[in-house]
Amino acid sequence: MHPTWIEIDLPQFRKNIAAVRKWIGKTLYCLPVKANAYGHGLCAIGREAAAAGVDMLAVAHLQEGIQLRNARIAIPILVLGAIHEDQIQSLIEYDLEFSISSRFKAELVREKWRGGKKCRIHLEVDTGMKRTGMRPETAMALYREIADWDCMEVVGIYSHFATADAPNDPFVKKQIEAFTQMERIPAIRHLCNSGGTVFYPEAHLDMVRPSLLTFGYGPKSIGEVAPCFSLKSKVSYFKVIEAGEGISYGHTYKAAGKTRIATIPIGYGDGYRRALSNKGMVLIRGRRFPIVGNICMDQLMVDVGQNEVYVGDEAVLIGKQGNEEISLHEIASLCDTIPYEVLCSFNERIPRIYTETDSSDLYPS
Ligand SMILES: *Cc1c(COP(=O)(O)O)cnc(C)c1O
Repeated sequence: MHPTWIEIDLPQFRKNIAAVRKWIGKTLYCLPVKANAYGHGLCAIGREAAAAGVDMLAVAHLQEGIQLRNARIAIPILVLGAIHEDQIQSLIEYDLEFSISSRFKAELVREKWRGGKKCRIHLEVDTGMKRTGMRPETAMALYREIADWDCMEVVGIYSHFATADAPNDPFVKKQIEAFTQMERIPAIRHLCNSGGTVFYPEAHLDMVRPSLLTFGYGPKSIGEVAPCFSLKSKVSYFKVIEAGEGISYGHTYKAAGKTRIATIPIGYGDGYRRALSNKGMVLIRGRRFPIVGNICMDQLMVDVGQNEVYVGDEAVLIGKQGNEEISLHEIASLCDTIPYEVLCSFNERIPRIYTETDSSDLYPS
């Protein structure tokens, strides 16, 4: 087995889904699983979410939708990103719902449609994000026009918040107003990301799309929601160095005194950010130790001082060990970025392991 892995605690993931469910009541639950389900593993998470009763999955791109269908996931899937003309046949073939974000895109679909099933589309309205989507008036005019087209059926209408990470934001209120003032049409109305779901219950409407929250990192904790993601490895090498000796490329760290150095087989080639050089921490035997020297492509070094550490010991880079924890937020703030980007940075070289029990209790501390 690869000595570095991402561990997903499935019972916790299911608890999160149940907690969000409870929070939103009868509102439909769409889980965005784009970008490899925020690093948690696209198909495994899609399958778990479908089994746990999520109503719909959302992805950014066609390719992600195809992967989910090939994994035999049958619940509705919405492709959020703007579509391209050469994707239309596949969107239909794989039974994917998709966004129409302009009149131009709608006309493309009409041109490319070859009969058969109607496309199930969601009108995307821009209420202030200024990324994709039509103005409310344009969306309504288009809605009336396509009502008698054979190629598509409007099943949803949605918009996206730009500033919903905190409560009582005046711009969020403007976006809610712009969206809810539109003429009611017989389609699923959806507006809320995680921030909206937590802080603006009045905007839940017919469906919500909280992703980060479902993975346990909401802007505010609700119910039993907690992270289900850990990044773990095993000490691969151990050495003793003398005072004044430099470590790793460029010798950016020099030992103050004689000390013990453990090597961990993870680096920026796995997506563990080099910005964490001489800043990040690692848990070994239930204690926090600093990363010393520059992080390499495949390895990094940890100063364990005078502590006993052995090759094969578990090293936790994100998550809990004993009574200690390195949180995703801590890593993100050390990298001067947001939790989303850290989760998305871990690549395919790190296997995802799905556990049915929280194994962090099994290791010595
Ligand atoms: C990614 C995405 C979401 C989920 O955002 P979170 O902040 O993770 O809840 C919701 N809606 C759209 C349109 C998205 O692109």
